[in-house]
Amino acid sequence: MDTITIQNLKCNKHPNKNLQFIQVNDILTQSISTKPLFYCSSCFNHDLHFQSINYLMIDQIFQEAETNIIPKWPPVNNYQIISDLIDLTSNQSSLDYVQQITDFFDQFKEEFLNKIDIIQKKMINEALKYPIDTQQIIKRYQDISNILQFKQLLNNQQPNNLQDHSILCKEFISQMESQKDKNTELLQSLLTQANQLQKNFNMEYPHMIKQQLFTFIDHISFFNLEIPEVNSINHNSTRSHQQTNITNQNNQIGDFKLGSDLIMKLVSNESNFCSDQFLNKLNDILQSINPLLKQFSFKTAVFKENKEQIDFSKISEEKINFIEEYVKHSVALSRGEQQFEQEAKDSLEIKQMIQIVESKMSFLKQDFIQQFEKFLVDVKPFLKQINFTNSFTDKQKFDFFRNINLKDSKLYTLFEENLPNLDLKLFATEYNNGQRDCVVNKKENGYYEIEKLNNIGWVNCISSINLQKDLKYIFRIKVESLNEGKCFIIGLMKNSDTGITDGSTNELICQLQKNNQSVIKVGSWGIDKQLKGAGFKTSVENMIELRLYLKEQILEMLDYPNYEYKLGLDDKYKVKLTQFDDLRFYIGICNQETKIILMDVKIVNEFIY
Ligand SMILES: [Zn+2]
Repeated sequence: MDTITIQNLKCNKHPNKNLQFIQVNDILTQSISTKPLFYCSSCFNHDLHFQSINYLMIDQIFQEAETNIIPKWPPVNNYQIISDLIDLTSNQSSLDYVQQITDFFDQFKEEFLNKIDIIQKKMINEALKYPIDTQQIIKRYQDISNILQFKQLLNNQQPNNLQDHSILCKEFISQMESQKDKNTELLQSLLTQANQLQKNFNMEYPHMIKQQLFTFIDHISFFNLEIPEVNSINHNSTRSHQQTNITNQNNQIGDFKLGSDLIMKLVSNESNFCSDQFLNKLNDILQSINPLLKQFSFKTAVFKENKEQIDFSKISEEKINFIEEYVKHSVALSRGEQQFEQEAKDSLEIKQMIQIVESKMSFLKQDFIQQFEKFLVDVKPFLKQINFTNSFTDKQKFDFFRNINLKDSKLYTLFEENLPNLDLKLFATEYNNGQRDCVVNKKENGYYEIEKLNNIGWVNCISSINLQKDLKYIFRIKVESLNEGKCFIIGLMKNSDTGITDGSTNELICQLQKNNQSVIKVGSWGIDKQLKGAGFKTSVENMIELRLYLKEQILEMLDYPNYEYKLGLDDKYKVKLTQFDDLRFYIGICNQETKIILMDVKIVNEFIY
């Protein structure tokens, strides 16, 4: 029976054929079918509905069951699983883990020992260059000193002839003594070499390396689950690591593991100015040892409380350079060297800024200016962002105002010129047919020009409104035309008098006369109290200034713009200034060809000079 196997059996239908296939699936569903379980090659050919997935070659079971996975056995829902297992087993070497591990360690041990042997030999050779042990030192000493020769010489005792012996010894010693320098040099060299090695010899470092190697070896593993974060290793560029937002998680106290990303983040901060080449190289190295780095864990926060790296990556390179310069500058300043600070103060940019704040027109307190200068010295590197050359629209004007003396008449004039001119209308009153014999012209530029048409009598030209008690007025009058020896009058009049009398009535006036090319005061009509200079005189090119502040009983006359003379109202008349309620500005003229111009009427805050 043993020889009769299924392979030798003939097909019932086709007696000359051996059975070759067996159905291994869908047996359950076809249990009542008369379909044979075994097929020969002809049965196979004749079965038009043959489904190969349901049949297995009998031969294959016999030949491969011992060693292989059989593709269609056992019946399963998904034959891909069997197919994958077949693929896996077909690659013999990759599945043989134990063998691979064994191979690794065999190779590792061999290479390890070889490497250690090499370095051991190298170190021994290095050590042999030095006279290291006592024996060697003594041997070298013997060579240099000839002590053994000396000993031998002494040994050849010839008691009968001590003198000969003495001569020989003397000869030997003399020879050695003659080499004193050489002996010294050789022995010194021996000593130096011995000392040098003693000083350089370091047993600790190899121990350290050995310990680290053991630590590394302890971590050898072939199984990913035991290797920390091995799956997270990525080989992106350095830059992407800098972007990793790891600060938050590392600013909390907790057990965290060191990693290449954290080290890169710390090292690659822009303020460190590390080169790209360095960072890339470092990143490669750290990546390669990342699983090892992860072995080290910390129970502390990376950063100080509420602090993290300054995020220099978010500002421009230009700004980082400013900050770099600022820090260097600040460190230099903190050394407290006067010269350095002075050089900063003397720099164009700071000088100019200080000139601007020190300008007389800035009205800043000295305290503030000093603080500001200190600040500028501190932030000097940042001032480079401002272009200080050609910063003024008009440097001359700036210098003028910067150096100006507030008591300077030029400034006062400038200041006055910028005040609005008060449009104070002038007109001639009926008195002495003033409206007929006098012409008042308003010029385009706002001047009022008064002209007398005949010589018949004094007429009054007055302002159209009463002057206010609490305003400070300035009137400027120019003599356009006045014949030699002829007079005119300026001052104040009560409005109620202007139609019936001339300005002399209340004595709030001054009479002026043409004298050569000047205008001088004549007579005494109220404005006659000498406050500056002697008398009153002004060129016809210049003007006469009348100042008025009723509330404080001020009525003065000056030569403008020189201000060499100043006349005030006599004290006895001053009370009129506060008493009268209808005082008006007044010009009196009399002679034909007299032309007087009211150039300016201004209201000022203060009379200066
Ligand atoms: Zn058959």
